[in-house]
Amino acid sequence: MVNWRRLLRMSNRSFLAFIFIFSMSTTCLYFIYVSITLNSICLLFPSANTYFFMVQAQGIMLRDNVRTIGQMIRLYTNKNSTLNGTDYPDGTNSSEYLAQPTTYLPENFTYAQNLPCPERLPSMKGLMEVNMTEVPMEVIEMKFSKFFGVEFGGQWKPKDCRPRWKVAILIPFRNRHEHLPILFQHLIPMLQRQRLHFGFYVIEQSGSQPFNRAMLFNVGFMEAMKDLDWDCLIFHDVDHIPENDRNYYGCGQMPRHFAAKLDKYMYILPYSEFFGGVSGLTVDQFWKINGFPNAFWGWGGEDDDLWNRVQYADLNVTRPEGEIGKYKSIPHHHRGEVQFLGRYKLLRYSKERQHLDGLNNLHYSPHISLSSLYKNISVDLYPELAPITEY
Ligand code: UDP
Ligand code: BGC
Ligand code: MN
Repeated sequence: MVNWRRLLRMSNRSFLAFIFIFSMSTTCLYFIYVSITLNSICLLFPSANTYFFMVQAQGIMLRDNVRTIGQMIRLYTNKNSTLNGTDYPDGTNSSEYLAQPTTYLPENFTYAQNLPCPERLPSMKGLMEVNMTEVPMEVIEMKFSKFFGVEFGGQWKPKDCRPRWKVAILIPFRNRHEHLPILFQHLIPMLQRQRLHFGFYVIEQSGSQPFNRAMLFNVGFMEAMKDLDWDCLIFHDVDHIPENDRNYYGCGQMPRHFAAKLDKYMYILPYSEFFGGVSGLTVDQFWKINGFPNAFWGWGGEDDDLWNRVQYADLNVTRPEGEIGKYKSIPHHHRGEVQFLGRYKLLRYSKERQHLDGLNNLHYSPHISLSSLYKNISVDLYPELAPITEY
């Protein structure tokens, strides 16, 4: 075997010092290298953020699984006692482990036509079957207008009690025709079981500009308010299917981020300020924050800007607990929208821009048509429709 110490003609002490300094400096170099590489990858390819998140999420899941197995072993070997006086282990978010609340009304509950519909109805059973199979729109239209009583144009309200909330569901849309019937198939029965007065608005972007999800929501809001004095708005991606009918779409806990646990993010909230997918605000809150920004063209950032606006208004975002906030996302068959690379810069000035860009600088000319299950608002959008003064 090679004797490195003798070969280098060194004393024991200096040999150890050499090894120590060598390993410290290589470790330092490694960390500098990794952080520079990660940063530059993130800057060059913003979607790399998502991949790093996925790797991190895998780690979190692995840790949780190990923890769960550990708890199971502890419970098994200690069958007759509970862990901490409850059935839930220490140091974990017990809401994850809690059974669904038992305060839902019993099956034999009788409704009164003149009283407000309750919020925790016996018809809300919890986890639902999600079926992503494509289905023709005509089939879904026929089913819900003929047999489920949805009015032409997409509104419905319960007849056996007084609906507690009037909820407008806004869906931003371009060229995702196969997603819409899948969404309706799940959402309509769920909202009917929740006894809400609801109406669907599909806001479709025409023209060739990059997709502008946020501006479509602003247009949808202005148009929906011409129909009815809605209590709140739900901003709903067309490809997000709720998995739990106890995810109540009423207006009582808004601002609310409904899509807290997405299958595509392994049911982990990607970051605590995440406000995408499905979120909701009351009409008053939406006016107060000047709506969504209009300046985000392409994918990304507009939901983060909305989050910022909600924070500046001192509003508290709620989320459904545990299993209730689960959603499945329909895989896209098409290439995603181009990333909006200017979003980081805009987000740095969220506060300054808030009162210059939103409902108050919005102009548009819509083409409106009614379908069986929704009102279609088609608009050509381009930046000149929402000019922003210098800030
Ligand atoms: N959207 C659309 N057509 C597009 C891009 C987006 O209809 O070409 C709508 C649709 O409602 C979609 C939402 O905007 O669910 C968010 O866009 P996307 O699904 O591309 O975002 P991601 O799921 O990749 O975050
Ligand atoms: C984007 C958001 C998006 C989120 C999750 C963020 O980087 O800015 O718009 O919703 O990633 O995909
Ligand atoms: Mn999507």
